[in-house]
Amino acid sequence: MKQGSDKELKQKIYGGGRISSVEALSLFKWDLIELGEAGNMRRKLAFPKDEVGFIIDRIINFTNICEAACNFCAYHARANLIKPFELTYEEIFAKIEELLLLKGTQVMLQGGLHPDYTLDTYVNMVKNVKKRFPQIHLHSFSPCEIAHMAKKSSVPIDEAILKLKKAGLDSVPGASDLLVDRIRKKVSPLKIGKNLWCEVMFALHRNGMKSSATMTYGMGETDDERIRHLSVVRDLQDKTGMLRAFIPWSFSPARTRLKNIEPATGIDYLKIVAISRIFLDNITYIQTGWLTEGLKLAQLALGMGANDMGGVLMEETVVKATGIETKAGIDEFIDIITNAGKKPVLRDSEYKVLKKFRTTSKKSVVL
Ligand code: SF4
Repeated sequence: MKQGSDKELKQKIYGGGRISSVEALSLFKWDLIELGEAGNMRRKLAFPKDEVGFIIDRIINFTNICEAACNFCAYHARANLIKPFELTYEEIFAKIEELLLLKGTQVMLQGGLHPDYTLDTYVNMVKNVKKRFPQIHLHSFSPCEIAHMAKKSSVPIDEAILKLKKAGLDSVPGASDLLVDRIRKKVSPLKIGKNLWCEVMFALHRNGMKSSATMTYGMGETDDERIRHLSVVRDLQDKTGMLRAFIPWSFSPARTRLKNIEPATGIDYLKIVAISRIFLDNITYIQTGWLTEGLKLAQLALGMGANDMGGVLMEETVVKATGIETKAGIDEFIDIITNAGKKPVLRDSEYKVLKKFRTTSKKSVVL
């Protein structure tokens, strides 16, 4: 760390003060260990417990037919890696039955922007799932899917959200990618821009829906653009308090049209976790992006600012399409959390603790 202004910044961070974008940018130059310690200290201020939660959930990607055909996505049908598909209700129900057998509580329905799907398609999907599985928390779709369905049915975004909510939708993942239009034009030119993303998020808030925010980095952006993304998220949270969690993960270029981009490193990831924790002083939970980073890096992140493992995702095809296949079960989650010196807890979608685990030895777990 440099002397002088860095010393003042360190005092500010350890004193719990809010840091500016310029100060956040300077953190990228900090020594990793020092930055991680600062991130962990801010985690303790935001969340003093040693608990690390996870949820048993299932992502159900119901179609890969997508009119956006983003350059950074290997999942959509036009990438020619996965044959075009649309799940039937029966197929969706069967996947949820499997989740219930494992005592899962949350379903994430997400799909491509199908050119023929209207708002009714999504509302009926929600109604049918909720009719059959009223106990499931539906944390589903994304701001870009909501903008898509509103546009297809020529209704205001608020109306689309209200109909989805009445049908049984419980909350919506923030699926933010990188909220910098220079990068969005390059990686997802037909997807919504930053302003429309914000518009949908404010509409969700007006209609009483909670959400989360993510950050996909490693797409050729500068450190300054990374901080600009975090600023959009912090401002939104200041105004709404709607974000339950923040989840950073790296872009996986393999098999996408951007495969020449140099992938981000594990060091980048840990720095981003710590900087996010310090900068996002209004968000309680920072999840490890274990699906893209792997369980060992996720474990390190738990000591640098992260305090939630997210979901034991039973099925996921979007990241898998890029060739990354990280799998984990409940026992592995408990081991990873325990061996990070934390207490594993099973939580629900609202971050309420459902169950605490006690480990009697490295391999033996008592519920
Ligand atoms: S990222 Fe989403 S919107 Fe873009 S092509 Fe993939 S499925 Fe479609």
